Amino acid sequence: MQYLSTRGHPARSQFSEILLGGLAPDGGLYVPVSYPRVTEAELDSWRELSYADLAFEVLRRFATDIPEADIKALVARTYTPEVYCNHRAGEDPAQITPLRLLEHAEGTELQIQALSNGPTLAFKDMAMQLLGNLFEYTLYREGAELNILGATSGDTGSAAEYAMRGKRGVRVFMLSPYQKMSAFQTAQMFSLQDPNVFNIAIKGVFDDCQDMVKAVSNDLDFKARQKIGTVNSINWARVVAQVVYYFKGYLAATTSCSQKVSFTVPSGNFGNICAGHIARMMGLPISKLVVATNENDVLHEFFQTGVYRVRQSAETFHTSSPSMDISKASNFERFVCDLLNGDTGRVRDLFRKVDTQGGFDLSGKPGSDGDEFTRVANFGFVSGKSTHDDRLRTIRDVYARHGLMIDTHTADGVKVAREHLETGIPMIVLETALPTKFNETIREALGKDAERPRGFENIESLPQRFEVMAPDVAAIKRYIAERTGL
Ligand SMILES: *Cc1c(COP(=O)(O)O)cnc(C)c1O
Repeated sequence: MQYLSTRGHPARSQFSEILLGGLAPDGGLYVPVSYPRVTEAELDSWRELSYADLAFEVLRRFATDIPEADIKALVARTYTPEVYCNHRAGEDPAQITPLRLLEHAEGTELQIQALSNGPTLAFKDMAMQLLGNLFEYTLYREGAELNILGATSGDTGSAAEYAMRGKRGVRVFMLSPYQKMSAFQTAQMFSLQDPNVFNIAIKGVFDDCQDMVKAVSNDLDFKARQKIGTVNSINWARVVAQVVYYFKGYLAATTSCSQKVSFTVPSGNFGNICAGHIARMMGLPISKLVVATNENDVLHEFFQTGVYRVRQSAETFHTSSPSMDISKASNFERFVCDLLNGDTGRVRDLFRKVDTQGGFDLSGKPGSDGDEFTRVANFGFVSGKSTHDDRLRTIRDVYARHGLMIDTHTADGVKVAREHLETGIPMIVLETALPTKFNETIREALGKDAERPRGFENIESLPQRFEVMAPDVAAIKRYIAERTGL
């Protein structure tokens, strides 16, 4: 399997070559030259597979330059009940991403797929844990090392640290805004004592952290010498790892491959639902892919109107589902490439327009950039939006009727999923975090604290290891160089 840029760069690359990188040289995203197809008979034969074996079947079709025996060992090490151990009472830990029937009525049914049983209690662990093992494997094979530099306001940074801790050949330098994360998130990251993990609390806001990462990465000499890399949501291997749980959810919700299911995905950067789109392109019988947004509705607007208009910082709201607070959706370009039938020249023009004019218009109206919005339905995409009041109401309703506490992002998903139910087609909402991560809103909704998985009870009182620094680019460069010795 070869990979190319969504913006038409002539180079073709293998999976291992794009694993450690970010954007393609022309600023595009990497996509496979074609999607591997899974036949109905193959799909049926996967029904009894464990999660790890299913991951092997999906991954070996994309990572064709890694020996199959090695892929098998990597997924077997990653997808275990020991790694994904934070399941709720009554869930089967062997399933890794267990399905739970929430409600059914008049031929419709609503299921929740738990993706948040990993070490940081959010779905990002599903891909990041594999990435950690893949990085260690390829770096060791090449005798190379990598220093990951990132900025985080919560979920991504902790998932990256828990994936890379103790891994040979990898160091993590993670910048976060000093005293601006929740006590729980701070404790999760700063309590790590692994010598290859460096937490740097910056006296500033998240944007200051991100600006520092950009400034360091723009110094190409420093970046090359210090072997700086990133693990952001556009990483292709992360997207592929997420494809697996769509297959798992489908197989768990059906008994025959003549059936269809739909998925609702609480969305921000479009990475999670992009994996659903890829599963569908591979032949998984998905009826609808429902994009659920919060008040930051740039994606909902596109799927309603065909107009993609990124937001300014001042128009980006801080909400109670903060991991979906985005101004633009960094993985969206991958879907647009398919929507335009792989016309990379036009993708390049549209996303240049995003940079220069803040968006594009595929509505087909006079003066628009194209009429492909009429084709969106062929890909199963629909959307909906949920607000703070909707979250509170949904969290209360699900708790009152089913005794289940859901987090704020999953609540956005349940709210929107209920607007798109179809008779005879199970609707699966992806649970993207456990409620204890967003306890403030749980208290507001229910007047009590969220349950905490075992082992997390006193996380705030564990010893913390971190450095406080001013937002000073020269100082962070010095700090990194001193620790890498490069
Ligand atoms: C990252 C995240 C999301 C959004 O996922 P995308 O892949 O960016 O669309 C939703 N919920 C939670 C809890 C997250 O951490």
